[in-house]
Amino acid sequence: MATTEPTNSERSDEKPLRVLVVEDEFVVATTLRLHLEALGCEVVGVARRADPGVEMAHELRPDLVVMDIGLPGRDGIEATRDIVGQVDTTVIIVTAYEDERVQRALAAGARMVLTKPVLEEQLAQVIAQLRAEKAAGGPPPGPEGR
Ligand code: CA
Repeated sequence: MATTEPTNSERSDEKPLRVLVVEDEFVVATTLRLHLEALGCEVVGVARRADPGVEMAHELRPDLVVMDIGLPGRDGIEATRDIVGQVDTTVIIVTAYEDERVQRALAAGARMVLTKPVLEEQLAQVIAQLRAEKAAGGPPPGPEGR
């Protein structure tokens, strides 16, 4: 419920992390969105299938994609493969699977795999890590750099 974040005096003009959620189960997607918003993220989109998820990732250029594996049609591993390397973003997997699909998701370029049910504190760690990376310079804004 209430998240007590440590008051960081150095809380500059950070923009919220923009997050895309790809998850077919409405309740899970809603829970993820609420957790992410509670953590100060902006949920820029929710897709319920792989293909719209990939399209939204290309269009919306989120900082983070939270991706389910078990989706109707193409799965989240294939979607991850279509996003990583093409969109400058980080993909994390949320799944109930604990089998070889976890390794395949990581091989497809996912940064990490969180097992459902995903707790807000797990997401908080991910968000904190991404924020720290962004603050440390992060990737160049353009595709070419200089
Ligand atoms: Ca699912």
